[in-house]
Amino acid sequence: MKIKIQTLVRLQNAEIDIHRVEKALAVAPKRFDELTVERQRLADAVQAAEAHLAELNKRYRELEGEARQQQDRAAKRGARLHEVKTNKEYQATLKEIDDIKAIVSGVEDEMLTLLDTIEAAKRNLETKKQDVADRSQVLADEAAAVEQAMAEDRKRLEALRQEREEIAGRVDPELMPIYLKARVQQPDQRAVAGVVNGVCQGCHMNIPPQLYNELQRQDDLKICPLCQRIIYWQNET
Ligand SMILES: [Zn+2]
Repeated sequence: MKIKIQTLVRLQNAEIDIHRVEKALAVAPKRFDELTVERQRLADAVQAAEAHLAELNKRYRELEGEARQQQDRAAKRGARLHEVKTNKEYQATLKEIDDIKAIVSGVEDEMLTLLDTIEAAKRNLETKKQDVADRSQVLADEAAAVEQAMAEDRKRLEALRQEREEIAGRVDPELMPIYLKARVQQPDQRAVAGVVNGVCQGCHMNIPPQLYNELQRQDDLKICPLCQRIIYWQNET
């Protein structure tokens, strides 16, 4: 019976390993997706900063054009000053030139303010580009590590499944259905549990002393009366 139970424990260990690797393989693609999303987010931020800067530069060129246009207007009015016939007309033209100069001054103020905004936008763009430079290698390295771990896990899973089949082939045919039935009943899928100092390691409860005595003889199959797991006497060593 001891050997039979040992085979069951090995089967259970293989199944637990399989479950663990399967879980890791299920989680890994999610991490891979997260890394892709972060890389995309960083690239989008650079693009948005570039678009914002381009928009500001466009506005600056518009203002430049407007200032030039107004200055031309003022120059034309100025050229006309010596052609005017009356003092009234002269004063009116001077007033017109002053008004245009006021407009030019307003436009130039806006251009100055805009230059500060453009400088800030340039710094923001540099920061976003630096973020990409800082993170892209880290993200690429992690993505590669995730891929490598997945490849290793797939290999390991294949080996474990093969190992499980080999062990399953050595399990006593009468024990297998009992094992499978006990496994289905356990939320953690652990159908076999050792008993240490009278305590079932499956449910952590004391089994009856009589049962514990019988268990140590290891001559037939015992079930924990509390959790229904197949139990065996597990020496501390
Ligand atoms: Zn138990």
